[in-house]
Amino acid sequence: MGSATAWQLSKAGENVLLLEQQDEDYTYGSSYGEARICRSLGPKNDIWSYLHRRAVDETKQLVDFLNIHDQANHSMEDIYTDSPVTYILYTNKGEAAQRLLRQQEDTHECAVNPEEAADKFGVKVPKDRIVIQEYKKYTGTMNPQQLIKKLQKGIQLKGGLVHFSKKVQKATRKGGFYEVETIDTKTGHPETIQAKRIVSAVGPYSGQVLEYLAPNISSLITPKRVFLAFLKIDESRFESYSGEQKQKMFNFHPLIDLGPDHIFSMVEKRDERGHPLIKVGGHFLRNEISDLDEVWTKELTKDEIDWAKKSTLDYFEFLNIPLNYKQLRFQQGYSCVYSLTETEVPIVSNLPSADKSPDQNAVMLGGMSGVGAKGSLTYGLLATDLLLGREEKEFMYKKVKKALSLIH
Ligand SMILES: Cc1cc2nc3c(=O)[nH]c(=O)nc-3n(C[C@H](O)[C@H](O)[C@H](O)COP(=O)(O)OP(=O)(O)OC[C@H]3O[C@@H](n4cnc5c(N)ncnc54)[C@H](O)[C@@H]3O)c2cc1C
Repeated sequence: MGSATAWQLSKAGENVLLLEQQDEDYTYGSSYGEARICRSLGPKNDIWSYLHRRAVDETKQLVDFLNIHDQANHSMEDIYTDSPVTYILYTNKGEAAQRLLRQQEDTHECAVNPEEAADKFGVKVPKDRIVIQEYKKYTGTMNPQQLIKKLQKGIQLKGGLVHFSKKVQKATRKGGFYEVETIDTKTGHPETIQAKRIVSAVGPYSGQVLEYLAPNISSLITPKRVFLAFLKIDESRFESYSGEQKQKMFNFHPLIDLGPDHIFSMVEKRDERGHPLIKVGGHFLRNEISDLDEVWTKELTKDEIDWAKKSTLDYFEFLNIPLNYKQLRFQQGYSCVYSLTETEVPIVSNLPSADKSPDQNAVMLGGMSGVGAKGSLTYGLLATDLLLGREEKEFMYKKVKKALSLIH
């Protein structure tokens, strides 16, 4: 979100300094890794659909800019891997499915009972499930690592600065400007920066970083631990699959299973032989955090690993692709953090000033939960517009802006 906003500000001609506490290679943070689901199937005037679609348009502009001004070649395919997105819905939530599909203009296929699911998709489902597949350009997964690198390249080409290993310790108001105290995480060297305008996009650290500017933020954004398991199919098992089975496996990832745990699963990457590394997690499998700086290195429990394997095996059974417990290897685990607001809708808003009116010179982005990545450039655009006092007239832009605002 920080890189996306710094890019949008640079594009608008602003002088930008981006401070990032991590090294150039991110080893933690919610944007770590190589795959996030990006999708936009939604009911009419859905804010999430808009956030994704607009982000695709904005990303195209970034890629076009880089192809003119950078020596390396850039393409949308560096960021997006197109693939059908599979949704499994439960008939007790049938109304939600109907709402989703009513007047649906996006290309999709839907099976509402086991016979249809077998016929249309060749999958085996219990009676109470609805299966939907969404097909669209730049829908499937996106690579946050690639996107961040391109955004930072764009910022630098526009004359902006990106400083790594710079941790913001404290930000305060001083008359007509802000004082930002930083420390170099490698050398320990402190530095104080004065800025006329600031944007905070520090994910779960929002409460800490904004402590002196907006003390109420810590009560609006709660960080919760979620885990990710990276699984690999045994080599000989994977090699034994027919071409059709392999293709089916790829065509049915990413997955969003809207059951109680809200399972998400995707191909993080493929190795040099084309074998997939599968990443699986549960959107609602959240734990309390005792130490935010330590949580990223917390190992997965045996139960969490077992859950990940069982969920994956169940899915392979659903796909009619043979796989057993021993043939599925736990490769790596990762603990990461959802920043949650009460409604689970993220925040892009002016900060409140001392007299509670919106501070035109300070904007925050946060509370991105497990949904933010696909809309990064739209969130960045909205933050930029707030800071520059710009606004578009279109209905959906206004609707999304209002939904994300703290000030109603
Ligand atoms: C498990 C998981 C699965 C997800 N799956 C999806 C998905 O499939 N699709 C999707 O669209 N979204 C998904 N998301 C959501 C998406 O990844 C996040 O919304 C997004 O990464 C949030 O970005 P951010 O910039 O707000 O936070 P972060 O990526 O955490 O960035 C915050 C940055 O601020 C830096 N920082 C923090 N404190 C300071 C400080 N004091 N000084 C300087 N720098 C600081 C951090 O180092 C970090 O780089 C998922 C998230 C998680 C955790």
